[in-house]
Amino acid sequence: MNVVIVYPFQISGSSWNRFDVVFVGEGFTASEEDVARFETRVGEAIKYLSVSPYARCAFNFYWVRLVSNESGSDHPLDSSLGCKDPPLNSHFGRPGWNEWDLMVEPDDRQRCSDLVNSIVPNWDVIVVLVNDTMYGGFNYDDEHFLTVSVGTGFQNVLPHEMGHAFAGLGDEYGDLVDWETYYPIEGGEPDNPNVTINTAPPLKWEVDPAVPIPTDLTALRLKPEFAGKSDAELERTVGLWEGAARVDRGAFRPQFDCRMRSEFADFCKVCTEAVSAARTAACAAPILEGQPQPRPLHCIAGSTVRVPLPPCPNCLTAVDEETLARLRFSRSDQVRVEIGPLPGVEVVKIIHREGWLETVVATGHPMPSDPSSPAASQPIFSAEFPVEASGHYYIEFSPVTCEVPRFSFSVRVFVNGVSVRLL
Ligand SMILES: [Zn+2]
Ligand SMILES: [Zn+2]
Repeated sequence: MNVVIVYPFQISGSSWNRFDVVFVGEGFTASEEDVARFETRVGEAIKYLSVSPYARCAFNFYWVRLVSNESGSDHPLDSSLGCKDPPLNSHFGRPGWNEWDLMVEPDDRQRCSDLVNSIVPNWDVIVVLVNDTMYGGFNYDDEHFLTVSVGTGFQNVLPHEMGHAFAGLGDEYGDLVDWETYYPIEGGEPDNPNVTINTAPPLKWEVDPAVPIPTDLTALRLKPEFAGKSDAELERTVGLWEGAARVDRGAFRPQFDCRMRSEFADFCKVCTEAVSAARTAACAAPILEGQPQPRPLHCIAGSTVRVPLPPCPNCLTAVDEETLARLRFSRSDQVRVEIGPLPGVEVVKIIHREGWLETVVATGHPMPSDPSSPAASQPIFSAEFPVEASGHYYIEFSPVTCEVPRFSFSVRVFVNGVSVRLL
């Protein structure tokens, strides 16, 4: 591999409660055109992972660009496209596989993850972005390693492949073999939340008792409960539709269609809920004043905790629109934050980040919250700063000891002297 360029690109929080995604550029040369294309594609990838059911706050994004001698990837099934030598030897399919199965072989995956380990050791998933015009992608079970072509279908394939890595979703499309033939050893109920082989109660996901099992359009049309519904409505009925996990028989999916089944469909209800649950777990919100259930954080001495400012709207499910609007900072707003209690924390910083350029705008030590009785009171940190026109703010601190292994803290935000109170 020739040259490697690394940028931490968009960091939304502490690595230990975010899903750290490393985009690796494959088949991009050092030409100005390819460099620009890679940066554009990374920006698009982040956009596709920032819309529902995903949310940007759940991820930290990094990129690593491998420099290729030639643009593009290998097409062993189509010799007319010539032979390329991309750094990870990625290729579109191989004999016995489909051309859209965009693969990297085990030795090359190992080389790639060794490299990523050495620069972003806390990575959760590696996404190899392959510079080619062809449609394709692949996910390696249990490896958290994805390949996605930045060509045709990129915006649809990436959320699908990320569904495997982020929420453990299974494919909902069929093939030409039955469950036992395709999975001769594994058998049994799959771990994926959206695929089941069990048709007897209790079912894996909630199904209305009126829905026939197995579920199909013919059976639904015969039910008086569904009289008058269009086929499109019936196809959205949650049931047990046969055909999933790359087999046509013996495995069932929740709805007729889903992004885990076909390119243009939205995620089904079960997949949407699974991604939302994973997102909420990954996207630990700061604990805000008045929030009904403070979220405890595990203290890891020496780790860095970053809390976004203003707090992430995706995490604040119980906040009304008006409060959210007041939480957005505008240029030259004077912002004051108070955060605490912070036991075992010596230094707190407020960081302004623009692109990947970071500036510390305030720093200090947590002080007793009640100066008249310092021994009995908890250490809190407060700071005031004017808002820049663009960029993001974070509160950052590193617990140096873990007197309290799990602790909750609250953040109070004052904009121009007015306390922003949450519900
Ligand atoms: Zn898939
Ligand atoms: Zn689904």
